[in-house]
Order: sequence, then structure tokens, then C-alpha cells
Amino acid sequence: MTRDIEQFAQLGIGEALTAGLLEYGIGKPSPIQAEAIPYILEGRDVLAQSQTGTGKTLAYLLPLLQRIDPEKKESQVLVIAPTQELAMQIVREGEKYGAPLGISTIGLIGGASAARQVEKLRQRPHLVVGTPGRLRELLSTRKLKLHEVRTVVLDEADQIFQLGGADDIRALLKGSLRDRQLIFLSATLGPEVRTLAEREMRDPADVGIEPEQKLAKTTQHLYFVCEERDRIDILRRVVRHYNPQRAIVFVNQTGTIAEVEAKLNHLGLAARTLYGEADKVTRATVLSQFRSGKFRLLVATDVAARGLDIPGLELVVHLDPATDSEHYVHRAGRTGRMGRKGLSVSIVTDRQEFILRKFSRELETEIEPRVLYEGAVLTLAEAEQRRSSGAARWTPKRSGSAAAGRSEAAGVPASQGSSPVTGSGAAGRAHGEAPQRSAEPGRTQPRKPAGRPPKGSKKQPNKDKGAPKWLKDKRSTQDPS
Ligand code: AMP
Repeated sequence: MTRDIEQFAQLGIGEALTAGLLEYGIGKPSPIQAEAIPYILEGRDVLAQSQTGTGKTLAYLLPLLQRIDPEKKESQVLVIAPTQELAMQIVREGEKYGAPLGISTIGLIGGASAARQVEKLRQRPHLVVGTPGRLRELLSTRKLKLHEVRTVVLDEADQIFQLGGADDIRALLKGSLRDRQLIFLSATLGPEVRTLAEREMRDPADVGIEPEQKLAKTTQHLYFVCEERDRIDILRRVVRHYNPQRAIVFVNQTGTIAEVEAKLNHLGLAARTLYGEADKVTRATVLSQFRSGKFRLLVATDVAARGLDIPGLELVVHLDPATDSEHYVHRAGRTGRMGRKGLSVSIVTDRQEFILRKFSRELETEIEPRVLYEGAVLTLAEAEQRRSSGAARWTPKRSGSAAAGRSEAAGVPASQGSSPVTGSGAAGRAHGEAPQRSAEPGRTQPRKPAGRPPKGSKKQPNKDKGAPKWLKDKRSTQDPS
């Protein structure tokens, strides 16, 4: 038991608290405690999926009690719980572990005498626990002041929403400091909890969340492989094909962002940038212009776009692949919100393809390869079918994408359909069915595929006819077949 309790110490819980834990027969951190405590001690926002009975209350109470300064007569932590019973339970735990540290706790609970609660509030107890309705009532009558609260916890957040507490929560969060730490615990991660987390939290640590739950089920994840120098061209063709009203394009470095913006504008795709170093006014202006549709592509870095809520955003493009799966989740989470369809497209070189396979594994989500061909988006199997039916003239990847770019630039439209993400007729395409189109009018030469020729595709019999030997040799080494 003594050795087990050291595990709490290793997580950063001090002696005074571990002594209390021992006293109450708690020897070893539960999994959610082991995961959440270090983040909460760090001051990070935390989104935790947790059920009652997993030790979730102590998972946040222990680190928060430790961070409270008992010397200051200020209400430093606010815990919001859906029901009177749960709130009372939290109050009891708070008193049990907090009192020996000189920390005072108050319960602000509907059904009990408000007058007595107001009286006690004057003492500015360190830890405030309450139900949404009563807390809001006390906030609106200015009996409860939140300007000193450094951390707000929503326990059983899904229940709070189910019981109609959304407005109260909004008011309480609005009344609290902008840079407060937020901790949400919820048995389920429904759209309301997700949306609130995305809107209010900054870079939250996910705790206890099943990998496949981290990404919205309504979002499709695709990727295109191309040469480094063709990234922008593939982006242009992706945007043409999916034709979204608005899209966010993620880049990894602020250093290249202006160049990307300039290239896109040059190609006729109205783009502006959002990055961390930009001043507040510029950022606010860019965002409001993006929301109101003044331009189509927002080129952004991860930091700048974190938590961004653009209702109905149809497409997210990773022009550079995300640095890890957590960043991928944050990026892809800008689309497919509130049950809407979304699309997350990564553009990678063949050397970067493994990154997406890794994300796919870690997130237990399919991130599927696609090929752009004649403005259509094909699965590898469809592309292979086209190739083998002789409809296409496949060329090695390098010349393929570049050539395709040229032919489109020569005035051949890439896509004429409505957005496959939201448009009804195009939904099938978003799921991998290439449109069956006959030859487009005005086309003078066959356009070639971009992205990766399908694995196992055979050589075109006449492809090398007439080519010099050195070129044939080169092609045979480059050709993925
Ligand atoms: P909760 O999930 O917060 O409702 O906690 C369920 C019960 O587990 C409460 O009675 C806690 O006191 C108890 N508990 C919390 N953490 C631990 C732990 N690490 N080991 C044993 N019991 C615990």
C-alpha cells in the first residue's frame, strides 16, 4: 500500500494529500487519475471521457486542491455538476481532502436555502461547487463573482446539457476569466460537449477518450500523394473538385505561409492567412472576413486555428501533414461539426505517406489514398480500372501531375459539380465513386492523372514507343508497377 501511494507522489500530488488518501483507504491512482492529474497540475485544459465509479472526482479534485492557495481569500475553483446529488458528493470530497490543507468548500445547490449560501459566499470560499441554475442565478444577482476563478470544471457535462443547462453554462463561462483552465468530464462526447470544448478550450489534453471517438464520424479522411513541387497544384485541383464555399489550409511553418497565400491568389483562389504572430486586430478581421465569405481559403498554422469554430466548414486541407495524430485531430476537427459532413484531405509526398498510415493506426480511422484524374477523384481501384480499360494514358507520377496541371491551366475545367461534401448529387463522389463523365467539350488532349498511380498497375503497352532507351530505362525504374 505504501509503495502504491508513491504513485500519487510521482504524479505530483503532495504529502498532505497523499496522507489523506491513505486515511481513506485509497492507495493507488486509478487509470483516469494517472492520466489526468499531471495535465491538470500543469494548468492545461482537459477533456476527459469518464464514467462515475472510475475515480473521476479525485482525478480533478486532488490536483486542483493542490493548486489552490489557501492563504488567499479568493474563490479559485468552480465545479459545475448536473444534479444536486452529484454536487453534494463533490462538496463532501472537497471538504474531506481540502479541510486539512486549510481549503474551504461551498455547495451552491438548487433546492437549498439561497440566503444561507449567499451568507457563506461572503467568506469567499476557495472551492465553489454548484448546480447550473443556482450558480447562474447567483451570478446574475452578482452574489457570485467569478473574476478570481482560475479553473472551471464541468462534471458530467453531457448530463448538464441533457438537463437543459446549456444556457447556464454559456453564461457562467462568459462570466469567468478568458484564460481560465477548463476541465470537462463526460461519459459521452456528444456534439454539444465537443462543440463547447472546441470553442472554449485551448489545446486540451484528451483523457480516456477512445481513439475512434476523437474524430467526428461524419468526416471522411483522404490523402493524395504527389511530388513536393506539385503540392499547390494538387491543392488547387482538390479545391476545384470539391468546390467548397470555404476551406482551411494548414501549413506547418509560419515562414512559408505568405508564399502559399501568394501562390493561391495568383491561381485565382482567394486566400488569406492566419498565424499566431499576427496581431489581434488583423486576426479578428481575417476571421470575420472568412466567416462572411469574403475569401475562400484560410491558410493557417496549427496554433492560429486551434479551437476555431467556422460553422459549416466543409473542407480541411493539410498542405503539410500534421506533426502528430493529436494535431491531426485538432485540424480535422474544424470540419464535420454538429453532425455535418466534413472532409479532411492531406497532401503528402510518397516519403510522407507513412505518417498518414501511422495516424490511421493511432486514431483507428481510415485515411484513404485517392488519385486525381481528369478532375475526378478516384480510389486506387477505380484508377486502376480506368487505366486497364485503356481510358487513361498513365505516365510516371512526376510528369503526370505536372502535365495535368498544365492541361487544366490551359482552360479545361477540373470540376463542374457541386460540392461533394454538402451537395446531394456529389455525396457519392465524396465516398470514392468517381463521376462517370464523357469527354468534356473543348478538350484537345487527354489529361493525365495526378497523385499516385495505383499499386500494381501495369505498364501501358505503347507508353514507351519511340522513346530513347535511357528514357525507357528511367521509366521502368520510376514506374510503381
Ligand atoms: P467517482 O468515479 O469519482 O464517482 O469515484 C467512485 C469511488 O471511488 C469514490 O467512492 C471514491 O472515493 C473512490 N475512489 C476514487 N479514487 C480511488 C482510487 N484511486 N482507489 C480506490 N478508490 C477510489
